[in-house]
Amino acid sequence: MVHVSFPYSAPVSQTLFDRAAAVTPGGVNSPVRAFRAVGGTPRFMVSGTGPYLTDADGREYVDLVCSWGPMILGHAHPEVTAAVQEAVARGTSFGTPGEGEVALAEEIVARIAPVEQVRLVSSGTEATMSAIRLARGFTGRAKVIKFAGCYHGHVDALLAAAGSGVATLGLPDTPGVTGAQAGDTIVLPYNDIEAVHEAFHNHPGQIACVITEASPGNMGVVPPGPGFNEGLKSACEKNGALFISDEVMTGFRTSRAGWFGVDGVVPDLMTFGKVMGGGFPAAAFGGRADVMAHLAPAGPVYQAGTLSGNPVATAAGLAQLRLLDDAAYAKVDAVSERIRGLVGEALTKEGVAHRVQNASNMFSVFFTDREVRDYEGAKAQESFRFTAFFHSMLSQGVYLPPSAFESWFVSTTHDERAVEKIAAALPAAARAAAEAEEVSA
Ligand code: PLP
Repeated sequence: MVHVSFPYSAPVSQTLFDRAAAVTPGGVNSPVRAFRAVGGTPRFMVSGTGPYLTDADGREYVDLVCSWGPMILGHAHPEVTAAVQEAVARGTSFGTPGEGEVALAEEIVARIAPVEQVRLVSSGTEATMSAIRLARGFTGRAKVIKFAGCYHGHVDALLAAAGSGVATLGLPDTPGVTGAQAGDTIVLPYNDIEAVHEAFHNHPGQIACVITEASPGNMGVVPPGPGFNEGLKSACEKNGALFISDEVMTGFRTSRAGWFGVDGVVPDLMTFGKVMGGGFPAAAFGGRADVMAHLAPAGPVYQAGTLSGNPVATAAGLAQLRLLDDAAYAKVDAVSERIRGLVGEALTKEGVAHRVQNASNMFSVFFTDREVRDYEGAKAQESFRFTAFFHSMLSQGVYLPPSAFESWFVSTTHDERAVEKIAAALPAAARAAAEAEEVSA
């Protein structure tokens, strides 16, 4: 526990939060939005423009969450907004095939070489759930390897030792997931290829797939060590299992072709979400055509969705992807590097032990002096310092993820004015982190 005084109140957000708590569990529709780990009142946002969010109390923030990744072109991008308005005017859902979903699938296939065929869904959770089902259907095997600290959505079988909100709230296991649902999940330490070889050795002919975040961002940013993804790929190949790379967070963000564009390791299946939806619920899974051919109606593995390939969501996603050229990524990478440098400088100046880790433009700060390579390392940080840092930044108009276990995100619209506002807030936040003390509960 940490004692934090909240620098100012947010009366309108507080009133909305009280109303929300009466009708919604915990007052939020996704746990990571609550301020459980850092305390205080979650800010209810009413509008966003470029790199800024405005809350219900009329305060403006530089947004370093970007809706947890999707808003890589900033909020209310005029061309994305226009595409959405144009689509809405033509009708919002038909329950039939439409050209928008073909165009979005073509764009994904054109950008990501290992994706020969792709199926659109509405959330990252659906994408990973369906990819696992397909891998099991294709191989006729039951077991799945996942890594501690990786989050693949709230799929029953994948909630074991998951990152993101599960890590933030320190949940041991989730009630409601039965032994049968989780019993075929093998959880291994991240970045430990020997553990993977051992698991294949101990369960011969039983492992359907290995699923990993292409470069994890849900325990904070912990990139794969040299050769780790390649090692996973070859272990799968050798043992007749499929390699699933979860690019829901990294896809179309860490490069034009996501993390595949960075490390070039070719998975059998991949999952996408966030950026490809342009701020709307659109996600996808895809990969080898011979594997995807097992999906209904082409094959026997069932998967479906009333709003899959929704015309408004696909219009938003397509408009966003078409704007994401090399110049856009260069811009996002550059501003990320600049902010990382400023954060590191401010913390160093105050003598705060820290590591700023990044995977191209995704980054996070760990309050420890050791490199973080896995979930145990992430949990060993002094997260009470993050709490103090977070509230100082918030009070100065910079919105960070309300957890020490989440990636920070920037956009093409994070300009000089936004960076200056962050730079001006950092000295006091670094001091607050230095002065923070852990208080026992
Ligand atoms: N996979 C990864 C790597 C994610 O980061 C997330 C969400 O943060 C998901 C899957 C689940 O996506 P969604 O929240 O759209 O269900």
